[in-house]
Amino acid sequence: MAALAALIIVGASAACAPVRSAIADHGTVPHPSQSPPSTPTPTPTPTPTGFNKTQLSIDQATSLWVVVNKLRPLSPINYAPPLVNVTVPHVYGYQMQAPASAALSQMFAAAKAAGAGNMEAQSSYRSYAAQQRDHAALVARDGAKVADNESARAGYSEHQTGLAVDIAPVPGAGCNLEICFGRTAQGKWLAANAYRFGFLLRYPADKVAITGYQYEPWHFRYIGVALATEMHNEGVETLEEFFGLPAAPNYAP
Ligand SMILES: [Zn+2]
Repeated sequence: MAALAALIIVGASAACAPVRSAIADHGTVPHPSQSPPSTPTPTPTPTPTGFNKTQLSIDQATSLWVVVNKLRPLSPINYAPPLVNVTVPHVYGYQMQAPASAALSQMFAAAKAAGAGNMEAQSSYRSYAAQQRDHAALVARDGAKVADNESARAGYSEHQTGLAVDIAPVPGAGCNLEICFGRTAQGKWLAANAYRFGFLLRYPADKVAITGYQYEPWHFRYIGVALATEMHNEGVETLEEFFGLPAAPNYAP
């Protein structure tokens, strides 16, 4: 890890490219093309200039990086993505966008190979209509406030993107969609390794005020390996923080 940290620091300073501008600013140095220095300044190995946070849209519903929360509904609000049937064991939801489905299969296989046990997709894609129905049922049962804390309104759910999945352990051991999933072998493995497959634990325990949702150790959002790895390396847990977006604890009045 120390070597990796050193690499990151080198990469960060190289990104600022101080060497060339320092020479250019130095009045006594002749034009570089006329008089190359006999002892050239060591040039750092070219490194990436940093992660491009604007590479993909966070606003377009079709984007892998779309950020959906209580202040950022999908547009159009009844957006429906292209879907495939997931190839992993599943319960309620059985469809996701193709890249997310492929990554999910790889992740489940890797978890099993690592001894973390079996899992299934409890719920994945949910349409606008399905979300509207489910949310309305919760409101009727628990009231609007409790319902909004546990379930997104239609058009505001990551599940409507086809990129989110609720994962359950097999056997369930009473931890399906429960906090205790985070303490199962599966939940622990996912929390540590999901980023390698492009998934983000979207609702961490200590970010409720930012995400607007209680801790959901079972809910994972596919954002692609590049972004998930960058967030992991930077130690940034939420999309809101990573992209500098406002916290979204509540719906707009
Ligand atoms: Zn979920």
